[in-house]
Amino acid sequence: MSTDTDIFDALNGETERGPVTLLILGASGDLTSRLLLPGLGSLMRLEADRDLTLIGTGRSDISDEHFRRVIDDAFTRVQCPEATTARVKRRSRYIQADPTNPDDLRELLDATHGTVVMYFALPPAVTMRICHVLETMERPENLRLALEKPFGVDRASAIALNEQLQRVVPEDQIYRVDHILATATVLNLVGLRFANRALQLIWDAQQIERVEIVYDEVLALEGRAAYYDKSGALRDMLQSHLLQVLSLFAMEPAASLEPTEIHDLQAQVLRATRVWEGDPLRAARRARYTAGYVDGHAVPAYVDEEGVDPALGTETLAEVTLEIQNNRWAGVPFTLRSGKGLSKKRKEIICHLRPVPHLPVGFRSTCKDPDQLRIGLNPGNVTLDLSMNSATPKVLEKKSLTTELGQPVMTAYGEVLRQIFDGNQLLAVRADIAEESWRVFESTLAAFANNEIPMEEYPAGSSGPWPLNHTV
Ligand code: NDP
Repeated sequence: MSTDTDIFDALNGETERGPVTLLILGASGDLTSRLLLPGLGSLMRLEADRDLTLIGTGRSDISDEHFRRVIDDAFTRVQCPEATTARVKRRSRYIQADPTNPDDLRELLDATHGTVVMYFALPPAVTMRICHVLETMERPENLRLALEKPFGVDRASAIALNEQLQRVVPEDQIYRVDHILATATVLNLVGLRFANRALQLIWDAQQIERVEIVYDEVLALEGRAAYYDKSGALRDMLQSHLLQVLSLFAMEPAASLEPTEIHDLQAQVLRATRVWEGDPLRAARRARYTAGYVDGHAVPAYVDEEGVDPALGTETLAEVTLEIQNNRWAGVPFTLRSGKGLSKKRKEIICHLRPVPHLPVGFRSTCKDPDQLRIGLNPGNVTLDLSMNSATPKVLEKKSLTTELGQPVMTAYGEVLRQIFDGNQLLAVRADIAEESWRVFESTLAAFANNEIPMEEYPAGSSGPWPLNHTV
């Protein structure tokens, strides 16, 4: 019987697992303790025999002991066995350094061996400064750069970032991380579409009327104003994660699971994507939450959250309808929506099927909504809501066929790290895709910035100011 780990191995091909040094820049930060280290623990839980050295660094005065305690906490949270945790800790250290300083950076690189994964858990501007320094110094041959979104703040800055990164290492050693795009999500979409004839046959504008890709969160700001207030829902979710999901949903058939094949197909569909009828004023809406209750807890209005500058006009909910101008999808609206502080967590693709051309006379239908295919993004599941006969056979009603697609074997960051260690780029966002994703939303971002689209409001904990898909 094949396991998830076998599947990952197949994806990675005949991977040589030599020694790897994971050098985390920004090891004192939130990403490291909350996501990266637990991810590493979930990977080591399954693959304890990896030859891994872990170096954390930052300007903060942290002792090795303290850093090892942070590792301990993170690994315990994901149930990594004690012996594995102890082994990782023995091969870990913290080096106090300012990586923007060339001497400090040299010292850090000298402490590494094997494949060096330099993980920038840093504010993007600092990452850029370090890349400038790296460009001027001798670098390990097998150096991989891993960086977090945002990949720039618009198309021009994304191009500049990519050029800078590529002056340090070639593109196939750069990993732009999109942790929402976990391996299971990518493989589920590819498998669902291309491993059975039933769905393959309905995957076009003839059978599909419209598609919604929704990522609604119950969580409000949760103390992340420093990042979020300069970003907002459109940049934070739609421009990055949801557009990636759209490209996997809508791409042409893949011949293989090779990263180049998948990335080429994603890039092709993104090049054909634009805001519905080229008009963001009709196709986009935005809103932010006012005071309310989320899960029974009082939440202040977004503008009253600590660290928020109301003058920035940041939205906490954005919805934009896109079109894909190609033979397969012309005329089908794709609505992307994501918001914070909403009543219900909802992370799914909803695919509305067209009605049948003719319903036999004599049937009576109680189904108001069209038939739907719903693909849950996290956890992975698939539901088909189809019109069928009820107990009274002449009366049709909607019935749901549902299946789970299995639980992930490690956290999303565990998968991200695994693929970087093994040199697999399937989950990495390629340079041209990062740039194209900004191009798609350029006019919408400008309309937001110029206040051409009104800022609506919704109480925290409500379902939002408008029903889903009311942009076109
Ligand atoms: P933080 O703001 O917590 O910063 C991380 C570390 O960066 C700090 O602990 C600090 O370490 C170092 N740092 C800050 N400013 C400077 C500077 N001027 N020069 C050198 N080092 C500096 O960031 P996060 O950990 O929250 O996020 C890191 C990256 O990951 C960001 O790009 C973010 O957008 C992204 N991200 C974060 C997520 C999260 O949930 N936190 C989720 C997804 C992406 P020290 O002072 O010790 O040098």
